[in-house]
Amino acid sequence: MGKAKQKHRVRDSATGRYASKQKSLPKTSASGFNGTLNLEKSAPALRQALLSWYGEQGRDLPWRRSRDPYAIWISEIMLQQTQVKTVRPYYQRWLAMFPTVTELAQAEQQTVLKAWEGLGYYARARNLHKAAQLIVEQHNGVFPREFEDAIALPGIGRTTAGGILSAAYDLPVAILDGNVKRVLARLVALPQPPAKAINRLWQLSEQILDPQQPRDFNQAIMDLGATLCTRHQPSCLLCPWQPHCAAYHQNLQSELPMTESRAPLPHKQIGVAVIYDNDGRILIDRRKQEGLLGGLWEFPGGKIEPNEAVEDCVKREIKEELDIEIQVNDRLITVNHAYSHFKVTLNVFNCTHLSGEPKPIECDEIKWVTLDEIESYPFPKANGQIIDAIKEQAMQNS
Ligand code: SF4
Repeated sequence: MGKAKQKHRVRDSATGRYASKQKSLPKTSASGFNGTLNLEKSAPALRQALLSWYGEQGRDLPWRRSRDPYAIWISEIMLQQTQVKTVRPYYQRWLAMFPTVTELAQAEQQTVLKAWEGLGYYARARNLHKAAQLIVEQHNGVFPREFEDAIALPGIGRTTAGGILSAAYDLPVAILDGNVKRVLARLVALPQPPAKAINRLWQLSEQILDPQQPRDFNQAIMDLGATLCTRHQPSCLLCPWQPHCAAYHQNLQSELPMTESRAPLPHKQIGVAVIYDNDGRILIDRRKQEGLLGGLWEFPGGKIEPNEAVEDCVKREIKEELDIEIQVNDRLITVNHAYSHFKVTLNVFNCTHLSGEPKPIECDEIKWVTLDEIESYPFPKANGQIIDAIKEQAMQNS
């Protein structure tokens, strides 16, 4: 293959191979990437550069001041899919409420869900609770040091286990969260989307990890991804890995990692009922344990069928789910919310209870509550907006 032709293709700097499908990628930079990244050879320099940058620029995060495996575990779970600034107050409050594994294990699930309210991905809270009980039963209340034991706990995958074991016990266990995937994909100019090269990325993360300082190294690479090697406009000129970075040398840092085109998220239209009884109390129900938002409370309702009027949907769903008759009144609020795999629009109506004793047909429990009592139940985020609208309406009416 002629030189001129090669110049326009992306080279995988760890293997030296050229990618076969590169139409979407730009030409290499004039600065010229003149070699492959020999990770074995470059690893010591990469480690040293990263660790010395981390020593000067690393973020001061509350969980980094702790060596308590329990506190570190909590932070790792909270940080999944959630930004540091959101996690900070939750982390502090959580440790004040449940200072030890044993206290978490002994808490009521509803208390645990309430403490998690607003953080999203509620399976994380349910799994933390279950895992705490297992740690008490099987590991004397101490987070296990063995990788196999850690990964056997609910809610703990490979990268979370690596994050906890390296941070808490300074064990050389690699991590591969979203930030690390992006940094490594750029470092070697990965010629395919990370999702298609997971094994390869794990291998890279293991090879590059500093066996002498795994705790600091893993924290440092996460910081690099969070602060310099960001998704948009990475700050390559400040980056300790710039001299070794294939993406930088090929001027591809803004194009990598490659992305897969995704189908648009499905959008569900939901009819929701805020049902009042004669005493002004409101009906809420607790979702089944299994599935999305399991164990949380909500206002009853369900999916609008094709060609169905939203008021008819609300009436039908309430009959099917609770076996009661209601009158559907005015629209209270419309709430749009996006989950990871779909979007919803909640069409919320004020309703009046007409007849029938509500039964928990499609849920675990139902309750009539006053507006003051509602605050003590854990609700999903989208329902929080409904509660605010109910309060505002109550204030206007009074
Ligand atoms: S040089 Fe740029 S693209 Fe490469 S690792 Fe550093 S910030 Fe990321």
